[in-house]
Amino acid sequence: MARLLILGGTAEAAELAARLAGDDRLETVTSLAGLTRLPNVGAGRVRRGGFGGPDGLAAFLKEERYDALIDATHPFAAQIAAHAAEAAEIARVPRVKLVRPAFERTAEDRFVPVKDMEEAAAALPQGARAFLAAGRRELHPFAARPDLWCLVRMIEPPAAGETLPKGELILGRPPTDPETEAALFKTHAIEWIVSKDSGGRAGAKIEAARQLKLPVVLVERPAPPPGPTLPDVDTVVKWIDATLFQQQT
Ligand code: NAP
Repeated sequence: MARLLILGGTAEAAELAARLAGDDRLETVTSLAGLTRLPNVGAGRVRRGGFGGPDGLAAFLKEERYDALIDATHPFAAQIAAHAAEAAEIARVPRVKLVRPAFERTAEDRFVPVKDMEEAAAALPQGARAFLAAGRRELHPFAARPDLWCLVRMIEPPAAGETLPKGELILGRPPTDPETEAALFKTHAIEWIVSKDSGGRAGAKIEAARQLKLPVVLVERPAPPPGPTLPDVDTVVKWIDATLFQQQT
């Protein structure tokens, strides 16, 4: 049986694990950073926590005899992506990165491209009411702007003493339909959206911004490490089949 390690923490990683669960030629393990208490993992075995850098991941791949590595981490998880590329080379394990397409650009968009959350906070006008689609570790530049009113959505409640921007916190996963997002933005009189260019299902808020003609401060994604990339679960499933099984027939 071939052994496959999926670096996860995304909807695509969970979908891939679920798709591969019925394949009896494969034993699949999903690796999570361990930051989320109730992650969506799809199916199959799960391990949690960092590997201790590229050498740690390379040693893990060799010791546990993995045959292939799928980096299905988030497009903004640049460190683990770089480590995965280096580790796969050290361990001589085939690797592919699933890179979901960026948000589609349309004529109606009012995107303000920026390189990080510091620049995003600086791009908001004085006194703006903004919806922040930002991770908990990315909120500091907004908390440093008490003139802003920010609506923040988090999947899990903040830890005691965590710094939040002035405004309101809502708990929950993002909805997939733009209408629900648009209704939320209207209820809170949101004037600006701040988002990473995450792509994929995170698109509901971008579509809602389009509907409401709201400007979006869009943090551009880091380039993936050199090496093969694929855009979705379907193409990754085909890559796994071609890489692990077709050479043997
Ligand atoms: P990161 O900055 O690229 O990685 C930081 C460190 O966390 C890595 O060096 C690695 O530690 C560990 N790590 C990250 N992903 C891991 C995984 N799947 N399995 C085992 N260890 C992992 O990553 P991040 O931006 O903090 O994201 C952490 C996780 O959340 C990722 O799995 C990502 O898919 C998910 N996520 C991230 C975002 C985002 O916007 N960044 C959004 C949604 C989901 P060692 O060096 O010790 O191996």
